[in-house]
Amino acid sequence: MTIEVNSVVSLNYKLSNHKTGEKIEETSSDNPMVFLYGVGSLIPEFEENLFGKKAGDSFEFSIVSENAYGNHSEDNIVAIPISVFQDETGKINENEIRVGALVPMSDNEGNHMRGQVKEITAEFVKMDFNHPLAGTDLHFIGEILDIRQATADELAHGHVHGPGGHHH
Ligand SMILES: [Zn+2]
Repeated sequence: MTIEVNSVVSLNYKLSNHKTGEKIEETSSDNPMVFLYGVGSLIPEFEENLFGKKAGDSFEFSIVSENAYGNHSEDNIVAIPISVFQDETGKINENEIRVGALVPMSDNEGNHMRGQVKEITAEFVKMDFNHPLAGTDLHFIGEILDIRQATADELAHGHVHGPGGHHH
C-alpha cells in the first residue's frame, strides 16, 4: 500500500539545518518515527512530501522555516513579573530559573509551552517562547519502513497505538 490519509507510517529520518548542514536529530532503526498520516499532527509540508510513497522508498526534501516552525518573532519574547517565580519567602529556584534554561510554563488558557530564560532582573524574567527551530530551514532525508491501515480505535483517538505509539 502507499501512504494516504489514515495510514500508520513508520519511517527513519535525519533532520538537518538546510543552510548549515548541521544535524538536528535522527531516528534509529530501534526507535523509528511512527505516526498517523493526515490528521494534522505534523508539519503539513512534511506529510505532503510523503504522500503516495511505499515501504522501502527513500525521501529527501527541505522545508523553509515559514512552512515549518515559523520565524523568530520578538512578540514571543515576554517579560514575566519576578513574583511568578518566587516562593512564599520571595526566593526563586536558581537551579531552574537561570539564563539559558528551558522552563515549562502554561498560559492563561492552560496551554503548555516551554520558554527559554534570556534575562533575569529584580523585577522580571525575560523568556523566549519561540520554537527552538524557529527561523530554521529544515532538510529531511530518510526511508519509509512500513505502512499499514490505522485501526478503528486509532482513528477514534487520532493517534497510533502499540509500538512507537500510545500504550493505553
Ligand atoms: Zn489512544
